[in-house]
Amino acid sequence: MKPSQFAYHAPTELEEVLDLLAQYGDDAKVLAGGQSLMPMMNFRLLSPAHIVDINRVSSLAGFSLSDAGLFIGALARHREVEVSPEVELAFPILHEGLTNVAHVQIRNRGTICGSLAHADSAAELPSIMMALDARLNIRSKGSERVALAEDFFRFHLTSDLGPGELLVSVDIPAMSKNAFGVFEEITRRKGDFALVGVAVVGSWDENGKFQECRIVCSGVAPTPLRLREAENFVTGTDLSEAVLVAVQQLVMESLVPTEDIHSSAEYRKKVTGVIVRRGLARLTGQRRVQNV
Ligand SMILES: Cc1cc2nc3c(=O)[nH]c(=O)nc-3n(C[C@H](O)[C@H](O)[C@H](O)COP(=O)(O)OP(=O)(O)OC[C@H]3O[C@@H](n4cnc5c(N)ncnc54)[C@H](O)[C@@H]3O)c2cc1C
Repeated sequence: MKPSQFAYHAPTELEEVLDLLAQYGDDAKVLAGGQSLMPMMNFRLLSPAHIVDINRVSSLAGFSLSDAGLFIGALARHREVEVSPEVELAFPILHEGLTNVAHVQIRNRGTICGSLAHADSAAELPSIMMALDARLNIRSKGSERVALAEDFFRFHLTSDLGPGELLVSVDIPAMSKNAFGVFEEITRRKGDFALVGVAVVGSWDENGKFQECRIVCSGVAPTPLRLREAENFVTGTDLSEAVLVAVQQLVMESLVPTEDIHSSAEYRKKVTGVIVRRGLARLTGQRRVQNV
């Protein structure tokens, strides 16, 4: 199929983008990497009357790392952030998550902000951004606001963005020296959307106890889902084998995942327990490496 007819706009300045989005409101869609938008238009799941292509707006490009954390512009491609050795060192969980997003060809064009705006419930990056407590910087004509990743995802393919709004960048706060994060997922084939994914972040205190835990799942609910009961269960422990076995059991018993053509709820329950345990176990390994 081909998309239905649309007017194409190619602004070169951010203010022009915001003017166009304000002018056309619900009738406009932002085009970033096009890796989700174009398939949806080709299948006629979306038929926007106006496409606002942001690719010529140089002020939206790139990413930067500082003591405060990682700043990711709206046009930063998955791949450019993935291959940065500095990002891999500072945010290994983000690097790991990015390698699991689709395929290299898609990551060469697709943008991190596009993935967040798209808000697919099975996508890797929304969960990772929630686990890292990211802030999303949103602009519209004459106003700007910041949304916590935690509040940004509303439903499958539905974010907090309203008509006329552009996600201009994301800020990820720096992780403390004792904090670690890993990403685990189950897919049928490498590059597929996750049947279940899990981002696990936490830190070790001076007594060797696990603190500040965030466990966020993809693919089990219409939005990324924090497993707060499991977080509370492991907080203050040493993540011993007994704790890991018990938290796996807790997740398997308490989770009520969605069911779809890709997987039964029962399967998702089981594998979520397994990958939560696996993720936490990897964090105990990282502590040992740190202490060497
Ligand atoms: C074969 C295939 C496999 C895939 N596998 C995966 C996978 O495993 N995991 C995964 O997460 N994704 C996967 N994807 C989806 C894809 O990686 C991302 O959804 C995509 O790259 C999103 O970024 P984009 O820049 O291409 O966004 P676009 O396609 O340009 O836009 C997506 C949506 O977000 C909106 N948008 C984009 N940028 C902004 C912005 N800055 N502000 C406001 N709205 C914006 C658009 O209007 C549109 O509604 C796959 C895609 C394909 C084709």
